[in-house]
Amino acid sequence: MVQLSTETCFFCERPFIFGEQQYYGQYIHQWELCICDVCRSLNWDGINPRYEPRLLAHLSERQLLRPGRSARGLLVLACRVGSSEAA
Ligand SMILES: [Zn+2]
Repeated sequence: MVQLSTETCFFCERPFIFGEQQYYGQYIHQWELCICDVCRSLNWDGINPRYEPRLLAHLSERQLLRPGRSARGLLVLACRVGSSEAA
């Protein structure tokens, strides 16, 4: 039995499989953190405000650029959800 490598989601703090041909999330280079597929799909149109203080603290700690805000005033996720977006 191969031990699958995992990463921990920055947002929900749950581990997810990352590697060995299966990726249930992704690494966001701009933010230097990992996000699981669940959080990515739940926050695709903006980061849930309850994660905002922790995310902003993480970004300023690492001197990373803050994301812009959506029309709804939410921080915009730095990754794309793929081809499911309407063209
Ligand atoms: Zn998550």
